[in-house]
Amino acid sequence: MQHLMPTYNRLPIAFTRGEGVWLEDVDGNKYLDAISGIAVCGLGHCHADISTAICAQASTLMHTSNLYEIPLQTQLADRLAKLTGMDKVFFANSGAEANEAAIKIARLYGHKKGIDMPSILVCEGSFHGRTMATLSATGNRKVRAGFEPLLRGFSRIPFNDLNAVRDAASNDMNVVAILVEPVQGEGGINIPDEGYLTELRNICNDNGWLLMLDEIQTGLCRSGKWFAHQHAGIVPDVMTLAKGLGNGMPVGACIVNSEAAQVFEPGSHGSTFGGNPLASAAALAVLDTLESENLADQAAQSGKLLQKLFSDALAGKPGVKDIRGLGLLLAIELDRPCGELVMKAAEKGLLINVTVETVIRLLPPLICSETEIREIADRLIPLIEEFLIK
Ligand SMILES: *Cc1c(COP(=O)(O)O)cnc(C)c1O
Repeated sequence: MQHLMPTYNRLPIAFTRGEGVWLEDVDGNKYLDAISGIAVCGLGHCHADISTAICAQASTLMHTSNLYEIPLQTQLADRLAKLTGMDKVFFANSGAEANEAAIKIARLYGHKKGIDMPSILVCEGSFHGRTMATLSATGNRKVRAGFEPLLRGFSRIPFNDLNAVRDAASNDMNVVAILVEPVQGEGGINIPDEGYLTELRNICNDNGWLLMLDEIQTGLCRSGKWFAHQHAGIVPDVMTLAKGLGNGMPVGACIVNSEAAQVFEPGSHGSTFGGNPLASAAALAVLDTLESENLADQAAQSGKLLQKLFSDALAGKPGVKDIRGLGLLLAIELDRPCGELVMKAAEKGLLINVTVETVIRLLPPLICSETEIREIADRLIPLIEEFLIK
């Protein structure tokens, strides 16, 4: 009997080592990783600076708990505040936990304004995590099914629909915040119209709502800027990060600005592990490397090139519905379910993902060289062509 909880349909591949954009399996086969452990290993596998920082910290001090001061955590908060222009940071261990903090902040903020049943606007097609609060906020029905009763206090609207937001502003006096991904990741790399985030910022300002951005997948240079909302030139009230922040070390952050930064007090929230010396050292090294290797710009360039390679080869072909991307968040949407492509690509030494059944999602490491970007296209394009002819 197999003792692992069967919560995943795993591919029958097990990796033993990684270096840069490459992974090696137990049989010595090599794979170009175009999914980065789901947008986690932006710096590639076992980046020397990150491994060195982790090893050094692991042999110095790993954990003390938040009963004491943690200088590395303080330093990491300062770095994130400087990068975002925001005020305060709470550290967690995952994306879902970072969003839990955001949801709790929105509720406290509402109560402080005298709203007894505060409600958060969330979007169809969204993904915010698997804890009870974050799955209740998530748009995908499959994530919620069977877990009722769900948490109350979320009101769902279509993504990229400003009128729905304006309607809520005129009709629902309990709304205190909107929680949204700047680009929906699990939902299929859905990129909103230009001006969407800017107008959300305006609506939030006009109504005293918190603009809460889930940048767990889009943040930390993946979109071609440090944070995806910077494409719109706005600053959110709350932003959550995780995935790429530790390059594989589990660490999440909830970053908060201005009035919303005042609602948590001692005792409001906590985490045993959150921001421990080991995780903080890893995240600091990740931020240093993202900056010193100028990976926001590199992701922007690489993303443009990869999107062009796919467009040149596939745009307008029967079966290809759309090719879209922002930085190194890329999607090729087909007109039919294409999950089988994941294993076909793996057989050709390429790791990709398919989400919402018909969308091939690519999240390559930010450190990809031009040669590696071209290699991704060279390996994937023929597979898609073959799949569509069949
Ligand atoms: C992955 C993801 C989460 C959940 O993060 P976990 O670390 O798996 O809890 C939440 N929101 C978005 C946008 C994500 O991509």
